Amino acid sequence: MNIAIIGAGLAGSILANRLCDFHNVTIFEKARGPGGRMSTRRADPFAFDHGAQYFTAENPDFQDFLAEMEMDGLVGAWPDQIALHGDVRVSEKLKYVAIPGMNAICKYLAIDMDLRTQIHIESLERTAEGWRLVDKKGAAHGPFDWVISTAPSVQTAALFPSDFSGHTALRFVQMQGCFALMLGFDQPLTLDWSALKSGEPPIGWMAINSTKPGRPEPYALLIQSDNAWAEAHLEDEPEAVMDALLEAGSKLADLDLSVAAHQKLHRWRYAATPKPAGQPFLFDAEMQLAACGDWCLGSKVEAAFSSASALADHILTAPKA
Ligand SMILES: Cc1cc2nc3c(=O)[nH]c(=O)nc-3n(C[C@H](O)[C@H](O)[C@H](O)COP(=O)(O)OP(=O)(O)OC[C@H]3O[C@@H](n4cnc5c(N)ncnc54)[C@H](O)[C@@H]3O)c2cc1C
Repeated sequence: MNIAIIGAGLAGSILANRLCDFHNVTIFEKARGPGGRMSTRRADPFAFDHGAQYFTAENPDFQDFLAEMEMDGLVGAWPDQIALHGDVRVSEKLKYVAIPGMNAICKYLAIDMDLRTQIHIESLERTAEGWRLVDKKGAAHGPFDWVISTAPSVQTAALFPSDFSGHTALRFVQMQGCFALMLGFDQPLTLDWSALKSGEPPIGWMAINSTKPGRPEPYALLIQSDNAWAEAHLEDEPEAVMDALLEAGSKLADLDLSVAAHQKLHRWRYAATPKPAGQPFLFDAEMQLAACGDWCLGSKVEAAFSSASALADHILTAPKA
């Protein structure tokens, strides 16, 4: 079968890798490269994981996958010292990061894939030959027998036709945004933590990116907003958001963070999923449309892996017509 996958985040990359030995798989990604919300922003000499910070692994299949990645040097443990309400401790749960940046896993999985980047799919057209995907520039791609979207739920809902059987589940899902403020310093700061979890909006989390394994040395600090706070301020002027995060971050760090030589804000419209679909994937056999991603099962990297793996198992074991 000819299968189009929309999105080269972890879900799309895992799915493509599982299916490509049996089907012709094409991945369409609107960004410049793979990674999605597991992404890394470079601003020479600094580097920031401005999406996912780390991941944990409870699913044995995910643990096996990470063990392979670890042997290839693409994943390592982050011995973080997390500050929580002034108390600094090493977290009990092992935290993993991709090396040298969070996008390394998806980049690796994309090798030898038919990955078409900087193509933003805007609509699907049903034709006698199959699905045609039309991009933002008006170019058509296909035909494809199947289309699988791994885009966040709201974006998948906008792409798929109204008679797709998964629309009720898509409407049920709730996602929240997040702001990421990237700060690069000429000199290291004196902080006794590598990450800080804050219970005080607007800050959700702060992390010294350069303490993660395999990162460049220049001192890079990332501030993430609280998700509920971001939802309420998504359309605010970026300068106002930046000021609020800088002021609150400086208070928490007890340092003036506004001296940072590099300052850049990124807005994630869909970051976390407080209300997931509660099913591993959405599948419409009649229409030959399916969807998967973290939002099916949760809010985390591991949920994206589990959702894509479950859909791949389902497709590969489905009885042939
Ligand atoms: C700020 C932030 C912090 C986070 N922190 C953590 C954390 O610490 N730990 C953790 O486990 N998880 C964290 N997460 C969540 C984690 O990043 C996600 O669970 C995971 O990366 C989702 O992967 P995915 O493949 O399901 O979706 P995505 O990574 O969102 O992939 C979807 C892809 O589809 C592409 N796309 C969308 N629409 C189109 C279109 N129309 N045409 C073409 N391409 C399209 C997007 O560009 C994207 O690359 C965080 C996320 C954010 C944003």
